[in-house]
Amino acid sequence: MFVIDREKCTDCGECRDVCPCEAIEERDGCCEVVPDLCAECGACMDVCEFGAIEEREIPSRTV
Ligand code: SF4
Ligand code: SF4
Repeated sequence: MFVIDREKCTDCGECRDVCPCEAIEERDGCCEVVPDLCAECGACMDVCEFGAIEEREIPSRTV
């Protein structure tokens, strides 16, 4: 999943513009990826010049 670092995000909106799934929402002066909508294409991470978006492994759950 893709995660946006609130400390680094300047809310420039580039990632929202580039996302083909409209999976990035603005929230409290920062952006947030909506995991259910995200197709994990990575375009947002490539476009963010502030390095605020990173891909993280989803922790596996033990049942
Ligand atoms: S492109 Fe980066 S800095 Fe700009 S709004 Fe998206 S996450 Fe924030
Ligand atoms: S990885 Fe792709 S689909 Fe997911 S939020 Fe980023 S641009 Fe949108």
